[in-house]
Amino acid sequence: MAPRAAVFIDRDGTLTEEVGYVNHPRRLRLLPRSAQAIRRLNAAGVAAVVVTNQSGVARGYFSEEVLTAVNASLVAQLKDEGAHLDGIYVCPHHPTEGAPPYRMICDCRKPSPGLLRRAASELGLDLAGSTLVGDKPSDLVAAGAVGARSVLVLTGYGLGEWEFRRDAFPQRPDHVAQDLLDAVEWAIGRRSA
Ligand SMILES: [Mg+2]
Ligand SMILES: [Zn+2]
Repeated sequence: MAPRAAVFIDRDGTLTEEVGYVNHPRRLRLLPRSAQAIRRLNAAGVAAVVVTNQSGVARGYFSEEVLTAVNASLVAQLKDEGAHLDGIYVCPHHPTEGAPPYRMICDCRKPSPGLLRRAASELGLDLAGSTLVGDKPSDLVAAGAVGARSVLVLTGYGLGEWEFRRDAFPQRPDHVAQDLLDAVEWAIGRRSA
């Protein structure tokens, strides 16, 4: 089977509300058009894969068990709306905060592209034909490192980053979108173009 295209999706601020560290499942809320965006990917046969930095684990703010429960809530909230994720890939590390084993210089904390590479290998994804959507410059850099396209959304930190800090971006986005649904429409259009 030919490798499949994916849209990689940052979690906090892109798929869900940016509320700081999500240390309880009830703090996790989908953004308004997120379920619609995932349904659109499901219908188009494009893999929908979450890639998220969760250094709250390394920092000791919440356990991996809580993180698992939070992500289970994400899956359940999407399922209630008829939407399905193909994978959730998490970096729980931080290079300098907390204690080992989570305090480490890893290859998966964005802007490093380790989560994208792991997902591509496990799910059979075509990175060069894929797009990453996120609300921070570190997301854009991770996409660039594997030859994927990048979209900055203006939800979460995106608006402030784009309005006030774009001159300092180490990597320009290929596209700027209002939200995840707009980003997904752009990615799907690019694919069939
Ligand atoms: Mg984010
Ligand atoms: Zn990591």
